[in-house]
Amino acid sequence: MANEPWERKEIKITNAQAEAFDARLDLPDLILNGPCPRCKDGFNFRYQIIGLQGVKPIDNAAEERAALKTLVDDLQVDPQGTEADFTMFCRCGGDHDKRPADKEGCGAYWQFHAEWG
Ligand SMILES: [Zn+2]
Ligand SMILES: [Zn+2]
Repeated sequence: MANEPWERKEIKITNAQAEAFDARLDLPDLILNGPCPRCKDGFNFRYQIIGLQGVKPIDNAAEERAALKTLVDDLQVDPQGTEADFTMFCRCGGDHDKRPADKEGCGAYWQFHAEWG
């Protein structure tokens, strides 16, 4: 439903909406897949659950992710912990009026508690 105009706005989501997200590990990320609680469009959200300490960050985010993925695969790193709290943003590809050119989704964001493992 791409008829909601874009608006940067925090929303509260219900347990049922939170449970509608499908979580799967694709190290170093946790991928959440589901409908946006506001606009109902489907999207993927990646949350990095493994980071590197003491390593100079790489400027290019895609290169950094690729390097980290290789390292995680080589070392067979397990994610520490099985849950995290973070902010999720709608990243749908739907058409929302008034969306700035450099933004994605419908503008909604919310606090999310993820569990995996
Ligand atoms: Zn949305
Ligand atoms: Zn949308």
